[in-house]
Amino acid sequence: MNNFNINTDIYFGQDSLDKLKEIKKKNVLIVTDKFMVDFGVVEKISSKLNDCNIQIFSDIEPDPPVETIAIGIEKLLEVKPDIIIALGGGSPIDAGKAIKELAEKMDTGKTPDLIAIPTTSGTGSEVTMFSVITNKNNNTKYPLVSESMTPDMAILDPELVITAPKGITADTGMDVITHAMEAYVSTNATDFTDAFAEKALKLTFEYLPKAYKDGNDMISREKMHNASCMAGIAFNMGSLGLNHGIAHAIGGKFKIPHGRINAMLLPLIIEYNADLDNMDMNNYSEAARKYHDIAKMLNLPAQNIRLGVHNLIHEINSLNRTFKIPRTLTEM
Ligand code: NAD
Repeated sequence: MNNFNINTDIYFGQDSLDKLKEIKKKNVLIVTDKFMVDFGVVEKISSKLNDCNIQIFSDIEPDPPVETIAIGIEKLLEVKPDIIIALGGGSPIDAGKAIKELAEKMDTGKTPDLIAIPTTSGTGSEVTMFSVITNKNNNTKYPLVSESMTPDMAILDPELVITAPKGITADTGMDVITHAMEAYVSTNATDFTDAFAEKALKLTFEYLPKAYKDGNDMISREKMHNASCMAGIAFNMGSLGLNHGIAHAIGGKFKIPHGRINAMLLPLIIEYNADLDNMDMNNYSEAARKYHDIAKMLNLPAQNIRLGVHNLIHEINSLNRTFKIPRTLTEM
């Protein structure tokens, strides 16, 4: 028996931040990073909330460490919010999830609602049950997993992504491709996760180069924001794979942005998973067949499985070159 669910209420498109106007007279804790305060994003969010008592915890840094989560838990237990708003890239959203989850285990008082507002189009964390926390002592990234960490609401307003520079747009966009491809070839994939992964891939291959070229192109930003969330839905139920396993290990050790290390690994992982060298025409791996499906879907030359897989790898290498993503750790 299989199951598929989306536990998050999703609002998307331009002006979707206006959903916040419905929040009145609540205790709100905003978990975010310094950029969001300095660039007026926190102010923008706060101005939508009506008569609310707003507290801000803006200490989150990329790949949030255990120590910051501990300070956040203290803040949450002090504020006792009705609502937590996790605002930013994957790091503040993951931090918001972990703070909520662990604080609940320490004080079983009220359970705040969690609203995730992503400002990168990459992690899909706004709809997943994962939170990746770093132990700085041994440079290890730990994915915490609990359904109760899944945000109650996600607001995907593309206007918030406009400020992302080319490097962040490219890294996070390649994260979307990695999520969707890993979910698609996963042994846990189903028709339902495939549907979200396919749409996420179609949108990303079409709109990521456009968003990279012109960061003010609202249509491309909006499509990428939706694609990121769809890839999140796909891997939340379909799982990830070797690409993420290795990316977390290397990223934790060498402080490489998550999306960038995923992008560097992806062509190699596809080659490894497809295992073409050990296959003959009548005996391709399931992964090779699925990569071939992706190549066909993207209209790449794919007259047979071997050609499809090769051209998919070629296409990802070509995107990485366009986005100036290094090919090797030495190059980096
Ligand atoms: P991030 O949140 O770490 O942010 C990276 C940088 O981008 C920060 O300096 C931030 O201030 C800046 N930034 C964010 N939005 C911006 C904007 N609109 N304009 C300008 N600058 C902006 O980056 P990320 O790639 O979104 O998240 C990566 C983290 O998410 C990693 O720790 C990764 O392991 C985790 N992750 C979690 C999941 C999940 O399901 N929970 C999935 C994938 C990745």
